[in-house]
Amino acid sequence: MQIFGLRKGNDIAIDLGNSNTVLANIDRSLSHPSLVVLSKKDNTLKAVGTQAFEMLGKVQENLKVVKPMKEGLIADFNSTKEMLKAMVALSYPKSNILSGIDHLVAGVPFASNEVERRALRDALEQFKASKTFLIYEPIAAALGIGLDITEPDGKFVVDIGGGITEAVVISLSGIVNHQAIRVAGERFDEDILLHIKKEYNIDIGSNMAEQVKIRVGAATGQLDDPPPPFDLVGKDCLNGIPKRITLDHGEIAHVLDRSVLQIEQAIIQALEDCPPELAGDIYANGIHLTGGGSLLRGLKERIVEKLRIPVHQDAEALCSVARGMMRVLREPGQFQTVLFK
Ligand code: ADP
Ligand code: MG
Repeated sequence: MQIFGLRKGNDIAIDLGNSNTVLANIDRSLSHPSLVVLSKKDNTLKAVGTQAFEMLGKVQENLKVVKPMKEGLIADFNSTKEMLKAMVALSYPKSNILSGIDHLVAGVPFASNEVERRALRDALEQFKASKTFLIYEPIAAALGIGLDITEPDGKFVVDIGGGITEAVVISLSGIVNHQAIRVAGERFDEDILLHIKKEYNIDIGSNMAEQVKIRVGAATGQLDDPPPPFDLVGKDCLNGIPKRITLDHGEIAHVLDRSVLQIEQAIIQALEDCPPELAGDIYANGIHLTGGGSLLRGLKERIVEKLRIPVHQDAEALCSVARGMMRVLREPGQFQTVLFK
């Protein structure tokens, strides 16, 4: 069955993520924070992506910052539609869009239901592509990592994104078993935000919490190469006086421990559910960690220590899904079995 035509020039791929939306064609990709700024009065779009991110916490009274995605899925349909429209306009030359999109491939979590997938298809309809296909994100991530998913052995992929962690076993191009939890990178930010409020009486925004995570976040206090402590200046919420605190990785590892444990348990559950025929392959091939949340310092080492199996960290964890979809756009004939409508 030939589902892709021969023209390849105007094919686009969209990884609509909780935190980042990556748009790609066959040879380049562009990532945008999944955010929009809307007018409160009539919901007209004022900013999108990076520009909206820079406005977080600083918008005037007549504007609001909206995160259209939640837990890996569309939470606000209209703002998702507007966001995608603006991002496509930013990412592709106008002439390409006007001459018509041939094939559009978009990722969706495996842990999505038909209603959620329909919302995605409806949001993509505006592009009037000749053909629109969906692909499960963990499958695309496996392709992006460079795994041969057509083999009959088992491949174990853990995609820790912003809103959702999916742990899957893949064999013969399909998902054999699966665990998903609504704990991922953004939960780490919330843990940090709550801790700083409770422990130091300082209110910080989600941007700052993410900065703390990236600078001194860790999954374990025992790091071989610990980062330098991070100084944070915030406002005391009781008296409004500026206050400086110093955070180190040990403290943040403690704060994140519960959420990391939940991710670890989901991974263990997926391993336990894996058919015995594939378990040996997985113990030999190891776990492939991807998604931006997997970049948390010491996470790989913590999982190795706990599970005693090899763990491979994807060096380009923030764009594995988009890279996988680019492979599909380049060699559609080889990957048509992983696409669906
Ligand atoms: P999604 O597909 O859900 O949009 P991504 O795979 O783009 O998610 O990952 C986004 C998450 O990765 C965010 O929570 C972000 O804070 C986190 N992240 C990005 N870089 C790092 C890093 N160096 N250390 C820890 N977390 C990171
Ligand atoms: Mg993702």
